[in-house]
Formats: sequence, C-alpha cells, structure tokens
Amino acid sequence: MKLYDSIIHETMAAAGNAKRFPAASLAPWPATESSELIMQRQAAFELGGSGNPSANYTLVTTDPALAGDEVLLCGPDLPNIRADMPFARIVILETEEISEDDAGHDMIRQMEFVRYHVFPKGYMVRVSSTSFEEQVRVSRDAVKQGISFARVGKTYIELYKKVPGVKSVKILFLTDRALVERLKPNAKKADDITKTLSHILDGLPTDCGHCQLKAVCDEVEGMREMHLGKKK
Ligand code: SF4
Repeated sequence: MKLYDSIIHETMAAAGNAKRFPAASLAPWPATESSELIMQRQAAFELGGSGNPSANYTLVTTDPALAGDEVLLCGPDLPNIRADMPFARIVILETEEISEDDAGHDMIRQMEFVRYHVFPKGYMVRVSSTSFEEQVRVSRDAVKQGISFARVGKTYIELYKKVPGVKSVKILFLTDRALVERLKPNAKKADDITKTLSHILDGLPTDCGHCQLKAVCDEVEGMREMHLGKKK
C-alpha cells in the first residue's frame, strides 16, 4: 500500500537531521495500564500546550525501504527541556498489505487503538482526534528518573508491534518549532486517508459521481484504484 508514501517522503525529508536511535539498542520506559493524572504542580513542563504548536499523525506503508524500528528526534530531548515546548509525534508503520476483508479492517482499528492507549509513566498524554494535536505533561519525578524520547519511543514501538501485521515501527518526536509548524498540515491529510480507507473497507459503493470522498481520491495516488479494484 502506497497511500501515505508521499507524506512519509515529505516527513522524512523534513526530519533529515534527526538524531536516530535504533530500537534494538533501547530499553522501554515503564508504562502504566491506564492514563496517569499528573497535576500541574507535579509537572516539569508541557509539550504541545500553552499556545505552542502541536501535531500527531500516523502513516502506514508496505515499502520496507521506508521502514525500520527506530526512534528519531528533532529538537531538545526531555532531560534538556526547561520550559513548555512545541511538540509532534509522528508514527510510521510498516505493515503487511492491508487486505480488503475483516482482517484489514481489524488491523486499522488496532493501530488506531494503540495510538491513544500508550501510557508511559510520568508522561501524561492528551490526544485530540479532532484537532490532530497531542499534548504531553511530563512529571518532575520522571525527569529526575531519566525519562527520554528514545525510551518513550521504544515503549510505543513494543505496543505497536503486538498488532498482527505490523512489521516495523518508526517513531518521530519533534520539539523543533519550525518543523512542527511545517509538518502540522500532514496530520489532517493522513487522517483523511485513514477515514477514506476505512469507508472503502466498510463497503462504500463505487459511485464517484456522488461520493463525498472524491477530493481525497483526487489527491491521494492509488486510493481510487484501490476502491475500484476492490469492486472487481
Ligand atoms: S474511488 Fe474514491 S471517489 Fe470514487 S467512490 Fe471510491 S472513495 Fe469515492
């Protein structure tokens, strides 16, 4: 599947100077079963809040050349942050081909579930699915204990890899203001692709003349072929 590949190319080109942490060399940061409440008085700083730009999006590919288990970071790391910062978390998943049956649908559902259900300790995440943003409040205790994006990223990678069909996981963290602002528009584009794909897998009629998703199909290479091919 290549539906997200142009956004992946753009994202990776923008993050060309990122620090890279191969996942095999990382220990995951501990996680809790459910969201942990961190009060403002316990917080060291917030990411993506207080008027700072923020973005969150997930991209999927079947191209191994775009994949690999690693964490990438552009901007200051958690131990070096002293004040609220801009923030983006971008996930690139290499998967098996998404089939047009229940298994394909289930894979998308599970990938979306992980997006909102990783709870690193001392790292309270609030994701807004409507504004495509993510805010994180980091506790002073977690900073003292040595929390880092590399270890938080490894926690995400391990949970994504439990989803059947996910082969590799790249997690990009951005705290660089210019980069967050530059890549932020991709969050809506990626969401449009995911929603259109879900509708297609749901059995949407192939009637382009009356389809509200035409704008997405006009823009995203391979989407129309996927739907019309599915009908055949
Ligand atoms: S190919 Fe695109 S525009 Fe045509 S019916 Fe399918 S989703 Fe709608």
